[in-house]
Amino acid sequence: MQKLFVIIYLCLISAGQLSAQKVQKVASSPKLVVGVMVDQMRWDFIYRYKAKYGENGFKRILREGFSNENAHIPYAQTVTAAGHACVYTGSVPAVNGIMGNEWYDRSLKRQVYCVEDDSVKIVGGNPSKEPMSPKNLMTTTVTDELELATNFRSKVIGVAIKDRGSILPAGHAGDAAYWYDAASGNFVSSTWYMPSLMPWADAFNKRKVVDSLYQLNWNLSQPMDQYTQSDNSHPSYAKNPFPRKLDGNVGKSYGAIASTPWGNTLTLAFSKAAVEAEGMGADSIPDFLAISLSSPDYIGHAFGPNSVEIEDTYLKLDKELGAFLDYLDKKVGKGNYTFFLTADHGVAHNPAFMQAHQIPALGMKASKKAETNTMLKFGLKRLVEANANYQVYLDRSHIDSVGVDFSSVKRYFIQELMKEPDVQFAFDNETISAVNMPAEFKEMFQKGFNHKLAGDVQVVYKPGYFFGSTPMGTTHGSMYPYDSHIPLLWMGWGIKNGISHRKVYMSDIAGTVAALLKIQMPSGNVGNIIEEVIK
Ligand SMILES: [Zn+2]
Repeated sequence: MQKLFVIIYLCLISAGQLSAQKVQKVASSPKLVVGVMVDQMRWDFIYRYKAKYGENGFKRILREGFSNENAHIPYAQTVTAAGHACVYTGSVPAVNGIMGNEWYDRSLKRQVYCVEDDSVKIVGGNPSKEPMSPKNLMTTTVTDELELATNFRSKVIGVAIKDRGSILPAGHAGDAAYWYDAASGNFVSSTWYMPSLMPWADAFNKRKVVDSLYQLNWNLSQPMDQYTQSDNSHPSYAKNPFPRKLDGNVGKSYGAIASTPWGNTLTLAFSKAAVEAEGMGADSIPDFLAISLSSPDYIGHAFGPNSVEIEDTYLKLDKELGAFLDYLDKKVGKGNYTFFLTADHGVAHNPAFMQAHQIPALGMKASKKAETNTMLKFGLKRLVEANANYQVYLDRSHIDSVGVDFSSVKRYFIQELMKEPDVQFAFDNETISAVNMPAEFKEMFQKGFNHKLAGDVQVVYKPGYFFGSTPMGTTHGSMYPYDSHIPLLWMGWGIKNGISHRKVYMSDIAGTVAALLKIQMPSGNVGNIIEEVIK
């Protein structure tokens, strides 16, 4: 009997130890957060090419992670800088100040670039190149909040080909943002982060990975007739058939890599080097790797979403992504890192392609009619001081000097704009709430309107309409869903398995990451926590 008690007692002890071990295994935070932004990735690209994706990339994330299928940009200016700022600040241009890639500054009387900062210097490349920093970002990022929460013991690193794609996500307090310098073929940084380039980054640059990628040329992943999701009569192939020769760029033309799928390969190779050298995800203090893949945007602008170039870019990206996740599994441990993937904006189809299928779209030419009529009416020599992000900055001092009433000029100009056939809405930025426009759109303009930086009049063109007309190119930047509907995928530590079609916003991402990390949300946060994602 006593023996039986001993056996039961031993069993209970070992069961207790076992459950204690289990509890210990569930850490209180991930070792690493990896945020991947795919520049210009439309939500529908997850499904458009799904049949051809492998098992380890997008399909693995869908299988093991969570997909918010109905994620949208909450403000009107769907461009790169505003998108990267929103994802990481949980905020909108009205509050975080990043209301475009550039905007007009009335006091400086010039366009301001989102991450320009002449008080710093470039490190690792040509020091006379335009210096960059997150100075213009008015709020904290979730990466700043992580640094604050861990007393700056976390490693926060941003990597992208585009400067704004790495600087804005890395925040003000990040350890580093690295971006690609087309002149030198180097990843560079700024004295904002470090006095000189980190030795590991310098060593990476010396390997000139870009040259070995050029040697691969651009071969299609599948035979041309397998690209059934793309327009095979696209003008780009007749002019420049596959395989695309890239080896002529070796040792020079370092910028050309950005417009090929190998731009993603290069960015991920540098990101891995950062993980290795900086020991990211190696201890229990959470680190944050913020990657932005810029190449899909360059390729998308040149060829549009219905091209073999874009289809092949996503087939290659799917493979790269799978290999990168496998790497993180080995390096940081499966279940030890939280991964999310989203985009800074989507993109429109090419207008000529849409017209060929009788779908409304137009590559517009700029019209001066409303401006000319307004100047004639009020006897003005000048009316428009600048244009940015479909906003018009009126020449306030000239209108003042002529002695006519500013409000009357503005009202008349808006009425004239509304007469133009391509214009859907034109309105006074000071009174957005009074505009007769669907509430969903109105809110996007309110969130995009920064009192200090915005223009006087907002012009909105019809869906599918934008400036410029090329036989195959395209762009983004409107409030319409093809530009504002983005993928939002999650996987790993703290993430449930599932799918949701509830409408959520880009501005909800930072708050959700903050909730997972049990840290304060960013200072300008307007988003909510996406509860269904969190375990
Ligand atoms: Zn972009």
